[in-house]
Amino acid sequence: MRVLAQMAMVMNLDKCIGCHTCSVTCKQAWTNRGGVEYAWFNNVETRPGQGYPRTYEDQDRWRGGWTLTRRGRLKLRSGSRLRKLATLFFNPHLPALSDYYEPWTYDYQNLITAPAGDDLPTAKPTAPITWSANWDDSLAGGPELAQHDPILKAMSERIRLEFEQAFMFYLPRICEHCLNPSCVASCPSGAIYKRTEDGIVLVDSDTCRSWRSCVTGCPYKKVFLNHQTGKAEKCTFCFPRIELGMPTVCAQTCVGRLRYIGVVLYDPDRVLEAASVRDEHSLIDAQKQVLLDPHDPSVIEAALRSGIPQDWVVAAQRSPVYSLIFDYQLALPLHPEYRTLPMVWYIPPLSPVVDAVRDTGFDGEDAANLFAAVEALRIPIGYLASLFTAGDPAPVREVLRRLVAMRAFMRDINLGRDPDESIPASVGMTGSQMYDMYRLLAIAKAEDRYVIPHAHREDAGAPNDGCSVPTPVSLPFPKVRQS
Ligand code: SF4
Ligand code: SF4
Repeated sequence: MRVLAQMAMVMNLDKCIGCHTCSVTCKQAWTNRGGVEYAWFNNVETRPGQGYPRTYEDQDRWRGGWTLTRRGRLKLRSGSRLRKLATLFFNPHLPALSDYYEPWTYDYQNLITAPAGDDLPTAKPTAPITWSANWDDSLAGGPELAQHDPILKAMSERIRLEFEQAFMFYLPRICEHCLNPSCVASCPSGAIYKRTEDGIVLVDSDTCRSWRSCVTGCPYKKVFLNHQTGKAEKCTFCFPRIELGMPTVCAQTCVGRLRYIGVVLYDPDRVLEAASVRDEHSLIDAQKQVLLDPHDPSVIEAALRSGIPQDWVVAAQRSPVYSLIFDYQLALPLHPEYRTLPMVWYIPPLSPVVDAVRDTGFDGEDAANLFAAVEALRIPIGYLASLFTAGDPAPVREVLRRLVAMRAFMRDINLGRDPDESIPASVGMTGSQMYDMYRLLAIAKAEDRYVIPHAHREDAGAPNDGCSVPTPVSLPFPKVRQS
């Protein structure tokens, strides 16, 4: 068995307040310059909504990700290598700038040059604004805009009409640093690569030739062309910080403290098989089987034999990402049906269900009401399933049941009542497991949310620690130097 390490992230969507701090700090760090004004490596979109760029999930239109041939072989949805070469100079499956948005600025000069008057001067936009990276924020535009959401479109008419009363949540997105990245496979120049040491997917600017096949190839539309340099750019998972054991800028500055970063170990020889599973509903289990148990002695031995440093194995054992996926079985991948095996996973939000119960006049904190709602509320659960489980409602229901149980279990404790062990038992957990899960989700400190081992760059000299965002995190692992 070969073993590789992957830096991965989990986001707990119930805690996202849609403040966009992560997007803004990421922009300041990575895309605050010419040619990428329109690019948001981290964006936060309101769901239901069209997303950024508009309707990026409509793969019939954009042809991102992988699909299976009739004989069950994996192929890029955008076409074979031959087809790519034939269409190198004409690729109609690219979002236009208007699908992202036309960046604008304001007439700040007016603030200081406006003549004295009764009204405060304003800085008006210098051009008409018709769309933005988050035009439909918090359901702005209502059904008129959200009806173009590709997921909502696939749902029934009744759901489309009722969605506004039913639910809303925020979905922060970065590059998924996939195990089977279709952007890498799409590039005719071989300019995108996945680092072997931590799985971060990067662009080699020297090799990039502006073909933009990666933009089409990525189903999450997380590669951007810099119009000034003619080079592709994308989320780097803040690798200069990660190499120093620091969290990404988006995670560090997240107001909701909803991001978890950790190492997972995986078997690269199982990736193709997992991505080629025919039944889309089996893709999550297949993807989980690629990830290895870092406590298993045979995995530890194989990892060390594969050259993974000891402190990385220890980090994988302490990984909050592994815990949220396997120990607590809460995290799910975004659009597993794209078959890229994404490595940013999500805990689906319970809040739409709680809100729906409360809106009907029942107690939204009561376990029985919430359990019943999880079974009955097909609208939000169907929508969440379309995002996280290729449309299979069962895994979403399981996650939400666990979150409901935790809510009810902790309610008793917080009110000074005896904890009711039957509540965690109803979802296959013990009381102490549920309490640990609550601690990780609700009150974990930075050192538990980010377990990031230092890079081993013994041969590369001292890493550059000139990153502008300071960190209060105590680094869990000392840098190991070998002679
Ligand atoms: S999400 Fe990132 S790694 Fe995955 S295909 Fe898109 S750009 Fe590549
Ligand atoms: S900073 Fe955190 S809470 Fe705010 S929008 Fe980003 S992910 Fe959500």
